[in-house]
Amino acid sequence: MNNMLQLSAIMQDSDDAIISMTLEGMITSWNRGAQKMYGFTEKEILGQHVSVLIPPYRADEEETLLNTIKKGRKIDHFETTRISKEGREIPVSLTISPIKDLSGEIIGASKIARDITIHIEAVEKQAWLAAIVNSSNDAIVSKTLNGIITSWNKAAQRMFGYTEKEVLGKHISIIIPSDRLKEEDHIIKRIRSGRKVSHFETIRIAKDGRELNISLTVSPVKRSDGTIMGASKIIRDITEEVKIREKLKQYSTQLEQINSYKDNFIGIASHELKTPLTSISGYLQLLDRNLEKAQNKVFLKKAVLQVTKLTTLVSDLLDISRIQSGKLSLNFTEFEPNEMLKEVTDSVQQTTSSHRLELNLGANLKIKADRQRLEQVFTNLLTNSIKYSPRADRVIIKSINAGTFFEISVQDFGIGIPPDAKEKIFNRFYRAEGLSPSYSGLGLGLYISQEIVIRHGGKLWVESEEGKGSVFYCRIPVSH
Ligand code: ADP
Repeated sequence: MNNMLQLSAIMQDSDDAIISMTLEGMITSWNRGAQKMYGFTEKEILGQHVSVLIPPYRADEEETLLNTIKKGRKIDHFETTRISKEGREIPVSLTISPIKDLSGEIIGASKIARDITIHIEAVEKQAWLAAIVNSSNDAIVSKTLNGIITSWNKAAQRMFGYTEKEVLGKHISIIIPSDRLKEEDHIIKRIRSGRKVSHFETIRIAKDGRELNISLTVSPVKRSDGTIMGASKIIRDITEEVKIREKLKQYSTQLEQINSYKDNFIGIASHELKTPLTSISGYLQLLDRNLEKAQNKVFLKKAVLQVTKLTTLVSDLLDISRIQSGKLSLNFTEFEPNEMLKEVTDSVQQTTSSHRLELNLGANLKIKADRQRLEQVFTNLLTNSIKYSPRADRVIIKSINAGTFFEISVQDFGIGIPPDAKEKIFNRFYRAEGLSPSYSGLGLGLYISQEIVIRHGGKLWVESEEGKGSVFYCRIPVSH
């Protein structure tokens, strides 16, 4: 094959469009690459003016290019836009050379056009990335494995006060406090092994010496062959966040303190109140036994009742404070719960004329428990059942001996409890919503009762239907 043929074959097979034209712009040759790029066949295009490939808004360009060629000069890598047969715009890089005849006169131009769509896409992608990096609120910095800074975005400048020019080529240690330099060794060690450092909270120093609380995420930057060439760092300024966190911590400590003052206060106040109440109650009882006049006796009885109510309230407050400080101690003895139940029922019945307390006792058994505390629980259940059933006239109390546990139920036919309040009534200070003010109480009884029952390893719960009544159950294991 002679040289000419070889050249022509290479030309035909090139991916670049290779065409030639006269100095007037008439196309005289057209390779396969040109056909592929522009869509015209050789037959269609030969003899046509080159302007069919040029978008109208670039119409003047070709004349300037041909003028350069006419002067015998070459044009290298001129980036412009051409248009295909279907009207698609193609970004191209043109290299144009003069064609001379044997006498050296310029008779035309050869043009190599390369489609640079992919190249442009890559450049555009890079521009996007650069814009994102620069508009980020986090500082984005890259460095070599030796810690030399290689890029520094606008946020980094804002955060640390150094311009890109000031820090490029410098060691990253200019923003690291001297007592934290070891951190950098540790970070670089991880990066070298291809691992990331995520949300590492530390301190860095700005140009003006200010200490910044930052959260650092460092990732390895790899070459296309996978080897690690450096690290990219995303740095978030969390100075404000840390301040807020510290404030919250302070508040919560203060709150804990206030809470403990409050519990302490309730404890002391209840004690102070209870001492005189106990003596008044004692004197009233003494008087009651010795008083003759019938009417005075009635007044006295009423006074004793009120003192008893007050004593219960104060005792409840005292118990709350004991529970809060973990000091509610139990005194376990062995006794017959049926007997205790009978005593409590009798005693409550004595102060109630509106309701008949019907007691159905199961088989006798003995349990080991704190008798006084369980009396307190049953008294509370009984007084509640009377208090919250003002239109009813009876309460049914049952006990069951189940061998391993002792269970009692207290059933009333009163206002009942709404389903969403069933759990809440055992909370401290909770009273059912919409409860009429005629029902007195502080919302402490069930909370204390539940605490006592749980401390016995037992369970306290309720089944209830609004408007029909409630059944409270209390189950205590035989031995604790
Ligand atoms: P207090 O009776 O002092 O409000 P408790 O802790 O004993 O406090 O009871 C909490 C709440 O549970 C009461 O306010 C009431 O709304 C509801 N409750 C308790 N027992 C009954 C009952 N037998 N029937 C209806 N509601 C009850």
